[in-house]
Amino acid sequence: MGSPSSAAIDDIVPSDLNIPDNYVQHTLRTQKLRPPVTLDNLLGELNYISCTFVLLPPVIGLIGACYTPLVWKTALFSVLYYFVTGLGITAGYHRLWAHRSYNASLPLQYVLSFAGAGAAQGSIKWWSRGHRAHHRYTDTDLDPYNAHKGFFYSHIGWMLVKPRRKPGVADVSDLGKDPVVRFQHRWYLQMVIFMAFILPTLIPWLCWGDARGGYIYAGVLRLVFVHHSTFCVNSLAHWLGETPFDDKHTPRDHFITALVTVGEGYHNFHHQFPMDYRNAIKWYQYDPTKWFIATMKMLGLASHLKTFPDNEVRKGQLTMELKKLHRTQEKLEWPSDSNDLPVISWDSYQEQSKNRPLVLISGFIHDVSTFIQEHPGGSHLIIKFIGKDATTAFFGGVYDHSNAAHNLLAMKRVGVLHGGMPHGLDEKVVPPSQRLKIARYNELSSAYSSYSESEGGLLG
Ligand SMILES: [Zn+2]
Ligand SMILES: [Zn+2]
Repeated sequence: MGSPSSAAIDDIVPSDLNIPDNYVQHTLRTQKLRPPVTLDNLLGELNYISCTFVLLPPVIGLIGACYTPLVWKTALFSVLYYFVTGLGITAGYHRLWAHRSYNASLPLQYVLSFAGAGAAQGSIKWWSRGHRAHHRYTDTDLDPYNAHKGFFYSHIGWMLVKPRRKPGVADVSDLGKDPVVRFQHRWYLQMVIFMAFILPTLIPWLCWGDARGGYIYAGVLRLVFVHHSTFCVNSLAHWLGETPFDDKHTPRDHFITALVTVGEGYHNFHHQFPMDYRNAIKWYQYDPTKWFIATMKMLGLASHLKTFPDNEVRKGQLTMELKKLHRTQEKLEWPSDSNDLPVISWDSYQEQSKNRPLVLISGFIHDVSTFIQEHPGGSHLIIKFIGKDATTAFFGGVYDHSNAAHNLLAMKRVGVLHGGMPHGLDEKVVPPSQRLKIARYNELSSAYSSYSESEGGLLG
């Protein structure tokens, strides 16, 4: 039996429990929007709290730096404190609370909640709410930092003005029950002031007598760097790089993004496998957040690190590789197949061979007029077979032709001999270049068929 307040906590139901099946379309269609921001209404539409936290520190920091000498101990401490507060966001807010990609012991949870407060980006609960909506409605207007609205908007624009619409529903009832999250939400402002400004001033002051340097460099300017570092996950990571796992949405993988975001730059992977505690899956890729979580596990402070099955990760990669190859394939010209060619009787073949040089090889009739003079073995060997079946001679009887020759031959097809077409995947029928040709699922009804544009059923 719990106290009344804990009973109330247990009653928190998921906010997306009773949403309609067509929630996204319905909401986008019917939700009332705030008017577009213009010069006339700008002052009334600004989010003054965000503007203060995001725009004031660079001004104070830059002016302060002009009048404050930077001593090396403070410089080193500022970099260190950047990583501490950065990890509070990446390992704490993002991978622990927003995605639940591992379990952290209570001491680690408190440390991360304080470190994250030092990055002044809102409470865990508020941040995770927005981030879960970002994953669920990526690239739509229900995504609070929709990358389709441009780099500036997804970087900071979205928080400088009041949201044009509510972000899409995303359940954070688990966080509502989490004592550390609740503690941080309750004391958030005090924690921000202490962690973002007081502590980074206090440490350099007490240890090497540089209070002012601590405030300007480890406090204010470090905060500016942590801000834009994290904001880059919403802007740069949806803009720069490759899509090795899926190209349906904007998230991308890039080393530079990883470098400026404490390892959150393998964002294409992350959006595909958000519950994975890693962003970078290769050991040589830069992901200090992953290294931090793995270290915490070794120290016994973290457990249940989640990874997505490697087999499924590789399927995504393979799909993207095949897609690339398919694009290359589509740029090439391919021979006509038996479905697209006229069926010609033996008599007609004989008749037509008198007017133009036709040669029969493995059931296909080829017009070799443009090739007779080019034939490396001499034109006489081709002329000899006009109106005849040269299958045996072509496939080793006279000369076992190269793959290139077979590919080229197939381009000269003009008809199929009636009754002369072997069934199945005879290697003499399919030129080497086509044996591994990539077929879409709806092209598989014929093992060897040309492309049809119709997106029919499996056997369509
Ligand atoms: Zn994203
Ligand atoms: Zn995420």
